[in-house]
Amino acid sequence: MHSLNVIPYPKKVTNLGGTIDLSDTDLSSINPCVDTSLKEDEYTLSIMPTEIKISAGGKLGEFYARQTLKQLINAGSCPCVKIEDSPAFSHRAFMLDCARHMTTIENIKKLIDAAALVKMNRMHWHLTDDQGWRVVIDSHPELIEIGSRRESSDFGQYHFNEEYSGYFTKDEIREVIDYAAKNYIEVFPEFDSPGHTLSILAAHPELSCKGEPLKVGTRQGIFDDILCAGNDEALQLVFDVLGEMAELFPCKYFHIGGDEAPKKRWTECPKCQARMKEYGLKNEEELQGWFVNKAIDFLRSKGKTAIVWNESLNSGMMPKDCITQRWMDKKNRSADFANNGGKVIVSDFYFYYCDYPYGMTPLKKTYNYNPIFKGLTQEGKQNILGVETPLWTEYVRDFDRLCYMFFPRFCAVAEAGWTPQKKRNLKSFIQRFENLSQMLKANGINPAPAKDWNPNPIKRLIELKRFFKGTFNLDTVKNSFSSTNA
Ligand SMILES: [Zn+2]
Repeated sequence: MHSLNVIPYPKKVTNLGGTIDLSDTDLSSINPCVDTSLKEDEYTLSIMPTEIKISAGGKLGEFYARQTLKQLINAGSCPCVKIEDSPAFSHRAFMLDCARHMTTIENIKKLIDAAALVKMNRMHWHLTDDQGWRVVIDSHPELIEIGSRRESSDFGQYHFNEEYSGYFTKDEIREVIDYAAKNYIEVFPEFDSPGHTLSILAAHPELSCKGEPLKVGTRQGIFDDILCAGNDEALQLVFDVLGEMAELFPCKYFHIGGDEAPKKRWTECPKCQARMKEYGLKNEEELQGWFVNKAIDFLRSKGKTAIVWNESLNSGMMPKDCITQRWMDKKNRSADFANNGGKVIVSDFYFYYCDYPYGMTPLKKTYNYNPIFKGLTQEGKQNILGVETPLWTEYVRDFDRLCYMFFPRFCAVAEAGWTPQKKRNLKSFIQRFENLSQMLKANGINPAPAKDWNPNPIKRLIELKRFFKGTFNLDTVKNSFSSTNA
């Protein structure tokens, strides 16, 4: 059993014998030394009865050593140990959807604090979608004026007839980016296209294939109306937005979505069909490949690396220098992508999506998932960039609910990103979470109570049935109860 009250558990712990009470330790009084033989994010931490010593490869390693110490200090009693530690993966992130429901800057800072405490290093901020446009674009004020307001909200159990609106100014976004940077966390945005763009099309119906008036989405799901790939003005708007957001967010990564884009309108649209003919594209999947590549090329010219959801691989046209985020990949195309030199972020839907109830995704399922998924060659395994836990907010209206859904699963994914697979242990994680939970609560984050984390099969069925209401089917049950990835 693991002896240290730390999440994520360190790579190597050597017992030196004896214990020490760390309760009165003053973290700021510990001066680390730089060890050039260590990598930037690596550290060693020696806890001895007379002295606490930090050696780090750089500022990042020092920061991680302090996060470990913070948790040990909170726990009080600690065995004397030497810790040698570094992350298993270079990408350890959470995703926050502010398009469906927003939260305050103060609450986002609390999430960043939590991410820092469990040594995550990136935040993926989903800022645009069918149901709302949440970022100011100076060259297109109509995106906020029209796109940030929806008439009502009709998500699952939630039915609200009043208007929902809101957005972040560039200064507010900079405040979040700066706060995150102080915690060694990079923030990268997501601007999803060509699908999930009703909030644009409400302001610019002429950029859809049919050109008819459209409204900002008020219900969940996938909508047929997407940006017209045959319209140069639609592409120009995408470039305008990408340009301003690339300037606002210093992170080298930029998520351009590319998921859930139905091809119904493109099949019927003369402009889209003409575009396909012009470029010799065989089908609408290839047209999406062409469109997404335009965004990737534009971002590359700004020094950015694009991230796309795994559907973009359907076209077979994704360049090796973009990153694929794997979420629902029945044909395992992300394995082929990784095996042939592309980088992949792992966010599997039935394991890492925190917007679904514990009845569908119990903590043990999230925790036990191995990010080195099936079908990877030796080279492919090297191309797994890391892990990310998304929280979509159709069913999450307030911060208490958000914290209930995210925690402790958020921390389980953080441990998968840091701790070597052979050192991971659910029982130990649950024990160690008690200490971390105290620290989270002190900072305004209330995790789900332990009794809800791993419901029994009957409770799970009841919870699933309640959650999915009319759309509950055998497939959902089968996938929810399977413990391996298909
Ligand atoms: Zn079209």
